[in-house]
Amino acid sequence: MKHAGCELCGSDGGMLVLSNDRLRVVLVDDADFPGFARVIWNDHVREMTELDAGSRHCLMQAVFAVESAQRETLAPAKINLASLGNVTPHLHWHVIPRFIDDSHFPQPVWGTRQRTPAAGIIDARRAQVDRLRWRIAETVARIARP
Ligand SMILES: [Zn+2]
Repeated sequence: MKHAGCELCGSDGGMLVLSNDRLRVVLVDDADFPGFARVIWNDHVREMTELDAGSRHCLMQAVFAVESAQRETLAPAKINLASLGNVTPHLHWHVIPRFIDDSHFPQPVWGTRQRTPAAGIIDARRAQVDRLRWRIAETVARIARP
């Protein structure tokens, strides 16, 4: 089910890593947060409780698989999981690797900027994103088959 005018019904919502009948995983092109991923339910659904239990399980398994892939490839200090949807009320989870020297830590990525990280730090993390993309694709494909 698509909803006219919805950004996530009308586009992938980022660089597509994996897609199946139920959901997709994308990487967000964010200069400050290499490895920022989203898990997006394909149908236009607003809330987790609109999904049946099996679908909820499938979605969260994909979120956890992305989190695991980020831990393996990027070794972040923390991973932030967020499902907001205030601007785009189409069910999606943000999965964001965080580092103590990133631009906003310990604030949320949508909070107040705390510092400007050294360019080399961001470049080094960006260099790991290809590996992350492959790891997400293989991990999520294994657990999130419809
Ligand atoms: Zn939508």
